[in-house]
Amino acid sequence: MQGLMMDMPLLITDLIRHADRHHGSVEIVSKTVEGPNPDGSGAIHRYTYREAHTRARRLAKALKALGIGMSERVATLAWNGFRHFEIYYAVAGSGAVIHTINPRLFPDQIVYMANHAEDKLVFFDLTFAPLIEKLAPQLKTVKGYVAMTDRAHMPKIGVPNLLCYEELLAAQDDAFDWPSFDERTAACLCYTSGTTGNPKGALYAHRSTILHAYAAALPDALNLSARDVMLPVVPMFHVNAWGLPYSCALTGTKLVFPGQHFDGKSLHELFEAEGVTLSAGVPTVWLGLLNYMKEQKLRFSALRAVVIGGSACPPAMIRSFQEEYGVQVLHAWGMTEMSPLGTVSTLKAKHLKMDKEARYAVQNKQGRVIFGVDTKIVGQDGRELPRDGKAFGDLHVRGPWVIESYYKGEGGDPLKDGWFPTGDVATIDPDGYVQITDRSKDVIKSGGEWISSIDLENIAVAHPAIAEAAVIGVKHPKWDERPIVVAVKKAGQEVTRDELLKYFEGRVAKWWLPDDVVFVKELPHTATGKLSKLNLRQQLKDYKLPAA
Ligand code: AMP
Repeated sequence: MQGLMMDMPLLITDLIRHADRHHGSVEIVSKTVEGPNPDGSGAIHRYTYREAHTRARRLAKALKALGIGMSERVATLAWNGFRHFEIYYAVAGSGAVIHTINPRLFPDQIVYMANHAEDKLVFFDLTFAPLIEKLAPQLKTVKGYVAMTDRAHMPKIGVPNLLCYEELLAAQDDAFDWPSFDERTAACLCYTSGTTGNPKGALYAHRSTILHAYAAALPDALNLSARDVMLPVVPMFHVNAWGLPYSCALTGTKLVFPGQHFDGKSLHELFEAEGVTLSAGVPTVWLGLLNYMKEQKLRFSALRAVVIGGSACPPAMIRSFQEEYGVQVLHAWGMTEMSPLGTVSTLKAKHLKMDKEARYAVQNKQGRVIFGVDTKIVGQDGRELPRDGKAFGDLHVRGPWVIESYYKGEGGDPLKDGWFPTGDVATIDPDGYVQITDRSKDVIKSGGEWISSIDLENIAVAHPAIAEAAVIGVKHPKWDERPIVVAVKKAGQEVTRDELLKYFEGRVAKWWLPDDVVFVKELPHTATGKLSKLNLRQQLKDYKLPAA
């Protein structure tokens, strides 16, 4: 017997329709890339969910007029801002697919992705006008380029069919009914950064996006509400800003988009001016903000929690936010292939009775799954390992917002027995908390055992003189590999190699102690702000371990 409930497709347009109807006066505030006009206006754009919905409908009509059909790909090269938000809804809502491109990738990779996706239109922020001009001749399927600005700010670049965003909207009215279609229809396309081989596309559906949006909003996930003000620092070109443009519409949360400046000063000013209560971003961004706050002796007046993920959040950062600023850290883990949220570290009732250090030990982990995601760890032989918080193995996941296959079937079937192997190595404890110890290719294999580079990096950055650190394995004649620390010192701080090595003693097992320290001015990062160990290994290819 079937249930007798309405069979309504889960569509992305329902989010913006809901936000308009029930949170219509809630603001969306954006730092624009056009910058202040001579009269001082224009730096900050302010409107409401209702106006965003109206403009998204006009844009959907404009897309139709430009001949964008069902499931055709429309690309963006843009920062977090109100027009990008409108494109999110207009493109997916009209049945096409929004392909958000990370502008920090190498131009060759961008060309590869746009051609692979067969993008028909490219929307771009003014910052990227020179890049668009350079790339346009190689973009084979693109019929037009839309500058996300008004006529007064149009860039003077030589690209075919250059269109003005505000003119496209001005030519349409908002009398538009969002179409209804199968909830499994593709909505958004995000490519993995592809450290080896070509990038591969994760193609999200309307259904997967809505389920993810519900899940992300839960109290033990990102804890969004109609009383909150969310500033996503994580870019809208990095896995849909972790789904926040959808989840915030679902919960009626005020949105603040930071535009192109993520430095401590710009962020702090915006946090204070708009009463931001929640924010989300990668550890590097928070490092910059915390340093600035300390230098300037500043406080947050409204901020209550920050979501930190994308790479491991150092325990020292969690402590600093919570003890010095009273801001809760939500340590989260996920990946492009997971839309991206998998786990978030929030405490259970029993942890509240524990002492502070025991609570931190839980919080430092990447957290528990959100309902919908299932996890397991498997050993080299493919067999499931115990959930005892000690055994570590390859982390596999499944769930309705986890990919089944890459776009165009690239790379064959990625699943193993119906599970997606994440490429991360982890432990899972009896309470379900996942702790990521490494990317599988970064694990340090020493004397037949594994050493976690993330654990060692966390210790290094807890040293008061260290700003950032990467730990990599280097070849060793006896032990196969041994860990070394590559570290950046904080400005004006000193620490010697031997002092830093000593700092590890007593904090890890003896055989985990790094063999050497190399100080560098800066560490290489990927386009999404993660440490690029691939580049680091290349940089250190001539490095030799000191003789024992
Ligand atoms: P991406 O698909 O580019 O977002 O990268 C996903 C990868 O980032 C994951 O597979 C992890 O290796 C890493 N990652 C994300 N969040 C965390 C975290 N909280 N701790 C450790 N690694 C993380």
